[in-house]
Amino acid sequence: MIPSHQIAELYDRLRIDVVAGDYVRLQRRGNRSVGLCPFHTEKTPSFTLTPDRNLFYCFGCQKGGSMIDFVMEMEKLSFPEAFALLAERAGMQVQHTGGSEGTERQTYLELYRRLADSFPPHPAAHRRRRAGARAPGRTGFPGGVARPLPRGLRAGRR
Ligand SMILES: [Zn+2]
Repeated sequence: MIPSHQIAELYDRLRIDVVAGDYVRLQRRGNRSVGLCPFHTEKTPSFTLTPDRNLFYCFGCQKGGSMIDFVMEMEKLSFPEAFALLAERAGMQVQHTGGSEGTERQTYLELYRRLADSFPPHPAAHRRRRAGARAPGRTGFPGGVARPLPRGLRAGRR
């Protein structure tokens, strides 16, 4: 979750016409900006920005929303990713509340993948192989019998 005060701060620092201006050639019309919609093909501009409220709306394809929605749509990002991108652009110091969830999940996935790689496909196959590998070793003991380990060295006993 991104705290609402951070979103408010972002909207204070960055304007949607500046952000959308990277993707769309905008024309000023009063307190609005219009341009050719980046989400559908058109010849006359129906993509409209209301910079005072940091909102966009397209009269052609009815797409609309906030500055963050715009970047999510343009860059195919999740909300926290789009927010992080804009916050960085605005030069904000962001506490990574929303972003860290993703990073943490990434770390777990990475860990899981590494674990999966280090084990054979099935646990039973793993046990069988270990048992097989130990068997020839038994004859290596004097008298062919494994003597019990001294007290204290036995696993699981204290
Ligand atoms: Zn459109």
